[in-house]
Amino acid sequence: MSRFAYVNGRYARHADAAIHIEDRGYQFADGVYEVCEVRGGRLIDERLHMDRLERSLGELRIAMPMSRAALGAVLRETVRRNLVRDGMVYLQVSRGVSPRNHLFPSADTLPAVVVTAKSVARASGDKRAEAGVAVISVPDNRWERVDIKTVSLLPNVLAKQKAKEAGAYEAWFVDKDGNVTEGSSTNAWIVTADGALVTRPATVGILKGITRTVVFELAARSGLRIEERAFSLDEAKAAREAFITAATTVVMPVVRIDDQAIGNGTPGSIATSLREHFHEFAEEAAAWSRG
Ligand code: PMP
Repeated sequence: MSRFAYVNGRYARHADAAIHIEDRGYQFADGVYEVCEVRGGRLIDERLHMDRLERSLGELRIAMPMSRAALGAVLRETVRRNLVRDGMVYLQVSRGVSPRNHLFPSADTLPAVVVTAKSVARASGDKRAEAGVAVISVPDNRWERVDIKTVSLLPNVLAKQKAKEAGAYEAWFVDKDGNVTEGSSTNAWIVTADGALVTRPATVGILKGITRTVVFELAARSGLRIEERAFSLDEAKAAREAFITAATTVVMPVVRIDDQAIGNGTPGSIATSLREHFHEFAEEAAAWSRG
């Protein structure tokens, strides 16, 4: 249960927390967000999430609302006030509050900040991973700048709902060339017959997931080869394994794509072992990337 939310400088009771009706995040989806996993009360890969937040804000020409250190303190305090040991913290920054007008507001308009946190039982994810999940494919109808983590998620929302109604957990977007880009809220991976991990390059067409970055480090340590290249829906359906990655979802085996069972229809050994090792290595891997 969520008890408190941080909204523009104060911690409000979650049930009473509110933003202004002319918040540009509300009116134009003019804002960005991050979701960070919490384990044992600690933020996982905080630095990588802050790096991405700064990049997203920079691409939209929104100022950092406060220093990274101050923002980190707000995230941790929100986690603490909500008594979260395992779960997630959500951070949203919009261009601020201003009378509705497509043009940017005046330069003295402050970005608006909302932070919430909630517990997610670890067992629920682990149970799902034991069975594996089904995905459906949908045409990728999003804008080109999906590398920016904006709150503008309508195609993702519609795709995820479609998946649910089809009895699946996730929807994989497929581009005009028949290649899988990513999931509605996850990155997409397959494993080739000879055991190489394949995921789309994070140059165009996908969000560069933090979990994806950490899996690169993990794979290198485990001696697994990664092919960073486009892969088609057909190749995915014929793959030895498939899986998805995201903060809180971590590494989740995919056992079905549309009507096609993947491998023998049960979670693959590589995905399962990456999931097992993820948290052992996550923090260390993040430290590596910091250099
Ligand atoms: N792609 C999309 C579209 C997402 O929304 C997410 C989750 N934020 C991801 C990929 C995975 O990113 P991360 O590993 O940073 O959670």
